[in-house]
Formats: sequence, structure tokens, C-alpha cells
Amino acid sequence: MRNSTNVVLLTLFASALPDRVNIGPINLRMRCFVSRPLQCFSCYSYGHGKCSCKEASRCGNCSALNSYSEEHCNAAAYCFHCRDAHQVRARQCPRYRLEQDILQLANSQFISLGSARRTVLVRHLMLHWPLSLQPSLPV
Ligand SMILES: [Zn+2]
Ligand SMILES: [Zn+2]
Ligand SMILES: [Zn+2]
Repeated sequence: MRNSTNVVLLTLFASALPDRVNIGPINLRMRCFVSRPLQCFSCYSYGHGKCSCKEASRCGNCSALNSYSEEHCNAAAYCFHCRDAHQVRARQCPRYRLEQDILQLANSQFISLGSARRTVLVRHLMLHWPLSLQPSLPV
């Protein structure tokens, strides 16, 4: 259900792009902007890349801190974002979907990521997140 909504949003935005942006560099920038949520491949937080990461690295499988060995990790998959049993960068993670929705809203409404984040957070908190997890979400 949510997947089909995502596809529709992406399609609409893609078909609107050529009308609004016809300069090479800007076009390129818009495409980068709508791609995927930026997730750090060291600490697995969202919003920065590995090169600018100042956090302790995590295992991408079990979320253990100071771990570089996810390929050899034998622990059960655990996601520190949503505290569920999947790998940290799993696409079904509600945190990943949240970041993706923020990007899509910001791009389709031409609003800032900040105001898109607030709108999407309210919607997601009500729909998808257990009450106990809400304080751990950045606003
Ligand atoms: Zn990081
Ligand atoms: Zn691990
Ligand atoms: Zn998760």
C-alpha cells in the first residue's frame, strides 16, 4: 500500500521535472536530491555521509558500536533506529521510510527539508511508531 503510493509520487515528480528544470547542473542537482535518503555507512545515522561522520561506527547487522565487521557478524539482526529485528540499512525500516517520505514531500511541494520533516514526522508518529519509541526520534 505504502509502496504503491511512493511509486506514484516519484512518477509524478519525475514527469514534472523537465518542465521546471532545464539547465544541466540544476537538473543534475534535483536528481541527486530526490534519490534516496542519505545514510551514513559508518554509524548508520541519516543526514550525513561516511566521509563527514563524527560518530562511532556501528555494525550494519546488529547495531553494535565500534564494529567494522558486519560481514562476519553472527549476532541476530537488530536495528537501533526502530529497535526491530532487521539490519540497520533495511529498506523496510520505518526510519528509512520516514526519511524517504521527507525527501519526497520536500521535493514534490518545493518546501524545505525542515518543514517537510515536521509534517512527515507527525504523520509517521501517528501511523507507524509505537508510543514508547517516539522520544528517540530527532525533530
Ligand atoms: Zn555517521
Ligand atoms: Zn554485528
Ligand atoms: Zn529499523
